[in-house]
Amino acid sequence: MLVAIDVFAVTSSGVSIYIEIIWSPSKTQFLNDINMLHQSDADVKLVIVSPEIMANSEMTREFGKVVVAQRKQGKVIWGDLLSGQKIAEDPTYVDFDLRNLVEQLVTLAQTQRDESERLLRSPKCPFCRTFMRRAEVERYAPYSGIYDRKEPERRWGWKCDNCGVDFTENEL
Ligand SMILES: [Zn+2]
Repeated sequence: MLVAIDVFAVTSSGVSIYIEIIWSPSKTQFLNDINMLHQSDADVKLVIVSPEIMANSEMTREFGKVVVAQRKQGKVIWGDLLSGQKIAEDPTYVDFDLRNLVEQLVTLAQTQRDESERLLRSPKCPFCRTFMRRAEVERYAPYSGIYDRKEPERRWGWKCDNCGVDFTENEL
């Protein structure tokens, strides 16, 4: 029998993981528990449940709503309820599949965090001094004299929505 305590861990890179274990088939308890999950500020969230909950379509539907809401908030949450029975009975599932899954979710959370930190480091527009946003920038290659390139090249750069100007990394 699985010990019904929730797991909270933080990786060395600072990604926090919350594994909620819900065993009671009581609907009130289930709603309380997924509400706690919803409120938690952990970066990565997973839910392990009993076979009764797994088979309950009303509860799985409620969980689905939380998943949608959490993803809108940018949280990394695994969209399927995980079978506590399988975890209790199959040690290889824990050692390989579950471990792999958690590692993938942690990597995803880390990538999202890096991306938002990078956005915070956006350069300011040289004209109006507001922060620019990441954008694809079109540039025509210099006229070579050999052929006339008609299609502009696209590369990543920055755009000021205020002034309508854009820059490649090299132009800043
Ligand atoms: Zn500007």
